[in-house]
Amino acid sequence: MRVFNFSAGPGALPLEVLEKAQKELVCYGDSGMSVMEMSHRSKPYDAIIKGAEAKLREIMNIPDNYKVLFLQGGASLQFAMIPLNLMRNSYKADYIESGMFASKALKEAQKFGKVNVVASSKADKYAYIPKVTKDQFDSEADYAYICANNTIYGTKYHEYPDTGNVPLVADMSSCILSEQVDVSRFGIIYAGAQKNLGPAGVTLVIIREDLVGHAKETVPSMLNYQLMVENESMYNTPPTYGIYMLKLMFEWIEAQGGVAALEKRNKEKAAVLYNYLDESKMFKGTANKEDRSLMNVTFVTGNEELDAKFVKEATAAGFVNLKGHRSVGGMRASIYNAMTLEGVQKLVEFMKKFESEN
Ligand SMILES: *Cc1c(COP(=O)(O)O)cnc(C)c1O
Repeated sequence: MRVFNFSAGPGALPLEVLEKAQKELVCYGDSGMSVMEMSHRSKPYDAIIKGAEAKLREIMNIPDNYKVLFLQGGASLQFAMIPLNLMRNSYKADYIESGMFASKALKEAQKFGKVNVVASSKADKYAYIPKVTKDQFDSEADYAYICANNTIYGTKYHEYPDTGNVPLVADMSSCILSEQVDVSRFGIIYAGAQKNLGPAGVTLVIIREDLVGHAKETVPSMLNYQLMVENESMYNTPPTYGIYMLKLMFEWIEAQGGVAALEKRNKEKAAVLYNYLDESKMFKGTANKEDRSLMNVTFVTGNEELDAKFVKEATAAGFVNLKGHRSVGGMRASIYNAMTLEGVQKLVEFMKKFESEN
């Protein structure tokens, strides 16, 4: 039996997507083989990777002057690829430190140039998104960097900062396609697949054309966006099966009514949980209210033993992976696109019952 899976990542996938993959697992179309067994240079695979890109462009409304790449190395490799490719004039970059992944990204960038931390919420355990104004950004910086949704702390940007002419780079690993985004506001949007797109092993990168082609000669080939663009993500063997799964996910999103419909559903789902957290006498949300994430809902009881009891009993009742990140404790319900409204409602029912019994 399938459980209600609140995993932060790898996260749950829609049952329809898994069942479609199951149906096609052994023999894809009339190819006589599994997608896993196919040459990445073959005709049927070419249709898969091109189809995935085309569908993504459609559902995300990606302008023509952006390239779409399917890479490897996880979101974490982008922490290095971004400075290696974008630091090109001043070798300066502006970072907003809104959580652990933003912190890791800026530490990596420090290896390649001068990092200016524009603002940080570290002193408050990353419970909020630092508010910044345009004049806080360095107009000479090669790029500015944010983490759009802070998976561990349950915060997100509800409004993106205005960085003027400085390209804005956003890590959207845990919120991509959860709500509508104006791609043209960004220089780069990237996401590790395993939160909201598909299985681990693929990293989606959406990059504005003029930001491609600035890497120094010493940058390794596999870390050079230009080479990846020229070879349409096939400089070497891409993560073929993962990209196929992304295609199924994009098709599923379209069938749901697109990103706008998912955004509406995601807001409903999050409201069910946050409304209960706000009225509960036992559970309390940990993120600053106005910065609350739609995807990762973090909460505590204020008593570690009670937190542990809750997680244990929830698991036994079929609500799994609710333990908070090891660095912060408490609880976290990750309610990505694949989580249904029903799943969230059932979780809240369970939380109410637990509250009344304890
Ligand atoms: C999970 C996550 C990462 C790290 O992803 P990997 O693919 O494991 O490197 C980076 N940023 C955010 C926002 C994440 O949620």
